Amino acid sequence: MRHLSALLACSLAVMTAMASAKDAPTPLVPAGKTAASASAPASASERAAAMKTLTESVKGKPPVTVAPTARDKEEAAEVDLSARIAARLAEMRATQAARAAARARHTTVTKAVPPAPPPVARGTHWSYEGDSGPANWSKINVDWGKCGSGNRQSPIDIRDGMKVELEQISFDYHPSSFNVVDNGHTVQVGVGSGNYITVQNRMFELQQFHFHRPSEDRINGKTYEMVVHLVHRDAEGRQAILALMLERGTPQATIQTVWNNLPLEKFDTMSPSILLDPMEMVPARRDYYTYMGSMTEPPCSENVLWLVMKQPVQASAAQMALFSRLYPLNARPLQATNGRIIKESN
Ligand SMILES: [Zn+2]
Repeated sequence: MRHLSALLACSLAVMTAMASAKDAPTPLVPAGKTAASASAPASASERAAAMKTLTESVKGKPPVTVAPTARDKEEAAEVDLSARIAARLAEMRATQAARAAARARHTTVTKAVPPAPPPVARGTHWSYEGDSGPANWSKINVDWGKCGSGNRQSPIDIRDGMKVELEQISFDYHPSSFNVVDNGHTVQVGVGSGNYITVQNRMFELQQFHFHRPSEDRINGKTYEMVVHLVHRDAEGRQAILALMLERGTPQATIQTVWNNLPLEKFDTMSPSILLDPMEMVPARRDYYTYMGSMTEPPCSENVLWLVMKQPVQASAAQMALFSRLYPLNARPLQATNGRIIKESN
């Protein structure tokens, strides 16, 4: 009886240790015993009874049923204890198997979860050089994808235009109120309402104009020192951008008015009380090139009607130098033409 109690204590200690361990690959049977013997208390009992009968037969006594002795009771108690140990072992084995299965399921589920997607790019800072430069604009913000994948992007090298009788652009510009802001990318002039161009039977209203150095589009490979972009929009939101190439020459009055009203700080807006007439910048000759392109800065939206005047506009060296102190380079590199049709005035 004592050695069975010790066995129970030992078995439980082993089981507890194994239950607390992460994995329990080994069978839970005490050394020196087999699973069959541990889990067969009924046959052990029968064996004990059979042994008793056999012993008494050998002694020549008839096989009779005798009252249980103290020894019989102890044996029965041992058998009972063995049964309880076996039951407890079976129970603990089942619990451990269930835990192992749960762990396996958890591991499988964890492995099945797809990796977290990379964070969505929502940057707003862009520039003309370095990590935030034109080659990376499409990666800075998911909404700027056209800067990388568009196939009707601007600027381009304007050459091999189809010479046709292009309709004249009709200008309806007037002296207007204006404001000036250095927006961190260029000097931009907001113009009061009521200034229109009409082209392709559409009226586009002038929104603002701004400057690049050097010119963005080229004409037959030629780059101009600067360019003015006059940005228009029609009632459906379509854009038309009129480009005026700037070359060194006589001072330009409208540009001087803008420079005179340049704010002292970036992002501050100057709103003078005088008027500005955008018509003063438009060259006398109205021949132009036209093609379908894009905005030349993020988000690089396409479906922009480009109108590039053939005759450059003059501005003084001092006027050019003033802008170059603010923006020595704010031009996007050339983009692929991709077989787009370019038309030009005959
Ligand atoms: Zn521009």
